[in-house]
Amino acid sequence: MPDRQVQSINPATGEVIESFTPLTHATIETALENASERFRTWRNVSLDERAELLNRAADVLETKAAEYARDITLEMGKPLSQAEAEVRKCATACRHYAEHGATYLQDETFHTEARRAFVRHLPMGPVLAVMPWNFPFWQVFRFAAPALMAGNVGLLKHASNVWRSALNIEDVFHRAGFPDGCFQTLLIGSSEVEGVIRDNRIKAVTLTGSGPAGRSVAAIAGDCIKPSLLELGGSDAFIVMPSADLDKAVKSAVTARIQNSGQSCIAGKRFFVHADIFEAFSKSFVKAFDALKVDDPMKADTDVGPLATLAIRDELADQIERSLKGGAESLTKDRTVPKKGAWIAPQILAEAHSGTPSTDEEMFGPVANLWKVSNLDDAITRANRSQFGLGSVLFSKEEAEIDQAIRQLEAGATFVNSMVASDPRLPFGGIKQSGYGRELAADGLRAFVNRKTVSVA
Ligand code: NAP
Repeated sequence: MPDRQVQSINPATGEVIESFTPLTHATIETALENASERFRTWRNVSLDERAELLNRAADVLETKAAEYARDITLEMGKPLSQAEAEVRKCATACRHYAEHGATYLQDETFHTEARRAFVRHLPMGPVLAVMPWNFPFWQVFRFAAPALMAGNVGLLKHASNVWRSALNIEDVFHRAGFPDGCFQTLLIGSSEVEGVIRDNRIKAVTLTGSGPAGRSVAAIAGDCIKPSLLELGGSDAFIVMPSADLDKAVKSAVTARIQNSGQSCIAGKRFFVHADIFEAFSKSFVKAFDALKVDDPMKADTDVGPLATLAIRDELADQIERSLKGGAESLTKDRTVPKKGAWIAPQILAEAHSGTPSTDEEMFGPVANLWKVSNLDDAITRANRSQFGLGSVLFSKEEAEIDQAIRQLEAGATFVNSMVASDPRLPFGGIKQSGYGRELAADGLRAFVNRKTVSVA
């Protein structure tokens, strides 16, 4: 059990914002017992009451959006306007499950010789959520809102650099009036996760994060025969064909790549552009990147802030260097960024060779990789070479191309003529090394339920 303090550090300045004391074994035990006890009553609370509480959580999120957003930006550096939009999006997820949860949970009927045959969706119990720092509110709410609506209770192990946000999320549910124990934040490091998963009171685990973390958590869950859901990294392909609306494609490409200062799993990271429009696309893309305002994330007009930690910045800088050594050419202007803090200049790397970070790894920051392709087959073949399979984008007006991309792109989602975005109304998740299982929409609500088959003769 670590007795050291865990610090939140402002990545824009390198200053320590706050220190936290991790939970002891005794307090973890109390939290697990509270969760287990609460589940016994929460599972019997009516759907109407659960929906009412979720609507109240949405009210809290909207009322306190500016305050929570400020803490997010201080802790992990995303531009403040994006932090506030994130908190508000969590409110939409709560309202979505409040409105549609009962429908998603309806019995599914079957016709057999029995008088009645159906599947009923029953909650499983306490679910552990291991979450990342990049969308410190959204990743948690897209798990918590459906889990609570389904009658489960949640325990959050948040990334160690966003513990103020982790406590703020617990505060949302407390203020909304959820009974104690429905949602608890565990201030624990990753070394404590195994013990929690193995505890008999925990019935399932969900993780959003990196491949190594996912592999470890899934292996432990598998060893305990407990269901797991993994939302892991991505290196999404973004394909642009000659029929595309070029202005729209460039605008989308820039936003897709630099939102959240480039630290999004579903960011377009590899851009494949048809030779006929490559010059025009590339010129506008570079111009837009060069015009990005890289500045204090607290300022309203900042496009790109610092990365979340020095370690993340150093890893990305190393990846860029290896891609440049591997044949990539940087198309964007040289910029100086502050030395103190986790800053990196946005850039576009063109024509990196295979076997480099640009082709093989996830680059988690404002770095776009660009290649010229001869046709759609070429684009899809290169897109599918990635180990990841989260999202994918095609810009084209040709129905045959759209149909081909939908059929052949190896990804959990294909968005046509817009960037990939998560939406409470649509299922979300990946294939290949991007994970398994689906969050959001009805899938998210049913991720952690017992689909009990009932036959009444
Ligand atoms: P990370 O290092 O894997 O951390 C994610 C969470 O897992 C943190 O709470 C972390 O705790 C914990 N963790 C790390 N190693 C662990 C282990 N061995 N056992 C148990 N828990 C462990 O990932 P990150 O750097 O925070 O997040 C970035 C990654 O998340 C990127 O790859 C991104 O693409 C992915 N992501 C995926 C999605 C999606 O929906 N598919 C969404 C957002 C992000 P500590 O902080 O205490 O180490």
